[in-house]
Amino acid sequence: MKVHILLGAPGCGKGTQAKRLVAKMSLIHLSTGDILRDAVSKGTEIGLRAKAIMASGKLVDDDTVNGLVFARLQNETGDVLFDGYPRTLAQAEALETFLSNRGLSLGYVIDIHVPEHALEARVVGRRVCSNNDCGAIYHLETRPPLKEGVCDVCGSPLKHRADDCSEAFRSRMAEFNTTFQPLQAHYKGTTHYRSVDGLRSPDEIHGTILDLFREQH
Ligand SMILES: [Zn+2]
Repeated sequence: MKVHILLGAPGCGKGTQAKRLVAKMSLIHLSTGDILRDAVSKGTEIGLRAKAIMASGKLVDDDTVNGLVFARLQNETGDVLFDGYPRTLAQAEALETFLSNRGLSLGYVIDIHVPEHALEARVVGRRVCSNNDCGAIYHLETRPPLKEGVCDVCGSPLKHRADDCSEAFRSRMAEFNTTFQPLQAHYKGTTHYRSVDGLRSPDEIHGTILDLFREQH
């Protein structure tokens, strides 16, 4: 059993690549969101703890996240692809201890790199349908609606969410970088790390990642 990790900023296309990769290779896709929801719905002790933390509006701490992830890993025998975990350096270090205690190894750490200005353009150009039942998403440059400002699907006006403005993006990125940069630096010096150019098309990125896995298997 090997554990692979996908790294990248929000909006880099990590989730899409994870889905495409697991569909091609025999990998188990584990995202922290799914693990969390699963543990909460099963009502396990640690799941209930996580639920209480979330209900209080706080971020689930490293120990609780690690506990959830390790409980889940214990039941897996196949190769795993993490998407969204580890999120902090402390989580990465705990994962390494967990793996080495069990004689398991880390596989690839694939970092989908998109420069910040490109991520910002993706976010700032986004327009969403104002009809909540529709929720169609557009982009001024890459996926414009047929008629400016109007949803192709339902004809409702499109809106620019406050979360999608430059200022909100930059403040989210600054917060993200505080935890991401030490995590990325930790992996960069290892033989596991591969940086993938996230500015190319999803097909090209998928091809590059597949090549990596085919080399190894
Ligand atoms: Zn619509």
